[in-house]
Amino acid sequence: MASLERSNRHESSGLDSCRVYVTKPFLPPLEEFIPYLKNIWDSRVLTNRGNFHSALEEQLSKYLGVKYISLCSSGTIGLLIAFKALGIKGEVITTPYSFIATAHSLLWSNLTPIFVDIDPLTLNIDSNKIEAAITNKTSAILPVHCYGTPCDVDKIQEIADRYGLKVVYDAAHAFGVKCHCGSILNHGDFSVLSFHATKVFNTLEGGAIISGDLETKSMIDQLLNFGFENETSVLSLGLNGKMNEFNAAFGLLQLNSIDDLIKKRASIDKLYRQQIASIEGISCAQFSTALSHNFSYFPVFVEADYPLRRDQLYDILIGHNIFTRKYFFPLITSFPMYKHYSTASAANLPVASDVAHKVLCLPIFPELPISTVVKICKIIAQPLNSNGYLIS
Ligand SMILES: *Cc1c(COP(=O)(O)O)cnc(C)c1O
Repeated sequence: MASLERSNRHESSGLDSCRVYVTKPFLPPLEEFIPYLKNIWDSRVLTNRGNFHSALEEQLSKYLGVKYISLCSSGTIGLLIAFKALGIKGEVITTPYSFIATAHSLLWSNLTPIFVDIDPLTLNIDSNKIEAAITNKTSAILPVHCYGTPCDVDKIQEIADRYGLKVVYDAAHAFGVKCHCGSILNHGDFSVLSFHATKVFNTLEGGAIISGDLETKSMIDQLLNFGFENETSVLSLGLNGKMNEFNAAFGLLQLNSIDDLIKKRASIDKLYRQQIASIEGISCAQFSTALSHNFSYFPVFVEADYPLRRDQLYDILIGHNIFTRKYFFPLITSFPMYKHYSTASAANLPVASDVAHKVLCLPIFPELPISTVVKICKIIAQPLNSNGYLIS
């Protein structure tokens, strides 16, 4: 422990620029954004469905292979709007292994989260355990395509149909992911994307709601704009969830490089897998079953036969200026607003509890140098010398 502290103090005194974080948002060259800004300055249209907004909706629906998309100000707002549009009440079945916004969106909507354990391979909600959690108060299922790995969409839809439930996918990780039947985003009643700065495709802040038909999209657009039908009539209890022209313009520019950015992520993913294969006690998440994956995260698991515990490895990597993240630890169910739910107990969620204690997300982003990936893997392979002290 003493050596661990010394290592941290020694190494973290380096310049901030040497630090490697779990992600680093890609920014196109600044001069390429200037013409977009000039356009906004000239038109004075800053928000409320301007030209950039319409263009981004059109281009994204083509790129993603979805019918109707509504841009919004964040993924979290998108989830709230989706629940409002469906009018769901009572209990909603969801996963504890996700970012806090998944469950928060339910509480904000006065819905009761019912937590169901995850599948140990996909890390998504275990579709075999959903039925047992259904009661006469259940109105919907809120699964997450965790790390961009597709949920068992067919099984989930079959259950939803049989019990008359709605399905809203938290697709914050699933930009561009395709499965056997095209875009993964075409499943359920709605899929909600996040375009937050840390996501694969970003508009600084932002998100989108995918609808299956035009009528539903119109309802969503109305809810995102205070419920206005037109200048003088308000038809629904909407809020302000609009995306503005700056975010939309940034998204349009970002979309030009997205294929290249995902390709770079794919090669980093491949290199990590090659390097980690020979490290005893460290395992990688299974390779995604998606036909087209986005390589948004690179989670590894610190198993019992690794010489250190997950938190020790996390600290050692910080000592080398490598800032990994414990995504998703703690589980959503351990936070104060959730822990009193009967389905939040560790006994109900053995797989999620186990995974949360051993997971570490390694840095992955398009500009991550190959040499840094190799260095990270070297540190993980040999964190200690023969006397049991840290190598630093
Ligand atoms: C990022 C994220 C969200 C929230 O999206 P915002 O755009 O930040 O509001 C929701 N769910 C998951 C799983 C996320 O990773």
